[in-house]
Amino acid sequence: MPGTLLIIWDYDTALGQINSTMPYNFSYKPIYEEIENVEYILEQAGHFGVSMTFACVGFVAEEGVFPFNNPEQIRKIRSLGHEIASHSWKHEWFPYITEKQIERSLERSKSALELCTGEPDSVKGFVPPHSRPMSWYSKFSFSLGDRGLYPFHKGSDIENILRHLNKLGYGWCRVLKSYRPVWDKLYGTPVEEVDFPVWEKSSGIVCVPQHYTGFDDFALKYLSAAIEKEKAVVIVGHPAGLSRQKSESKEHFDRFMKEAGKYISEGRLSATTVSSYIKTKFEGSQPGGN
Ligand SMILES: [Zn+2]
Repeated sequence: MPGTLLIIWDYDTALGQINSTMPYNFSYKPIYEEIENVEYILEQAGHFGVSMTFACVGFVAEEGVFPFNNPEQIRKIRSLGHEIASHSWKHEWFPYITEKQIERSLERSKSALELCTGEPDSVKGFVPPHSRPMSWYSKFSFSLGDRGLYPFHKGSDIENILRHLNKLGYGWCRVLKSYRPVWDKLYGTPVEEVDFPVWEKSSGIVCVPQHYTGFDDFALKYLSAAIEKEKAVVIVGHPAGLSRQKSESKEHFDRFMKEAGKYISEGRLSATTVSSYIKTKFEGSQPGGN
């Protein structure tokens, strides 16, 4: 059995960029660059036969004004066989907003993206903006960085988000690779290692572990480990990141895709969407074992 590559893009789009990365430094350049980078990613994906998952800020799928709304591109991504997931409706900081807002953001992003592609109930995945909350209370894992405390802030416990997702017909949510209990965080030593924790299902939602962000040497190491151990590796990228000289740069991405393409042609790797992986892997059974 070959290894599996799951690439998930956090497609922040114009509104997501304004709401997340230093809004007071706003300029159009990175917004247009991100859109062009998505076009480039689609080309490369086609060239190497790689299906990917694009978690999009839902607002972009609404009809309106380019570049803030860009439903054409969402339809194009979908028509090329990639998965469309939700990255919220306007890239909110979930630990801060009210429970009603959480529900509306999840609901409206799902319906806007589905209306745009014309495929009812096709948006199954959710990628939390800013990867927040990072706290999972039932695992005794708390992140001060969430800047919100459950139960005063309903969005500060990932389990509560999972419950909402389940109610709204979602099937999976991207989560951190590991949730360390507070005592382990205080006294344990953090290690960045190539490991494949068991996928779990909680509140009816498949929790998709985010193994690594970027396409550099460490991502390549993860990829070859996935092949060797016949596991699925979840690599995360931001289309905007292709324009930055960091782990998600275009140079790293190109090299990574070339390597993945080589493994695919040798029959040692399949690169697919999160939903189709979950379907083949877990349909009719509880997640586990990979
Ligand atoms: Zn984001």
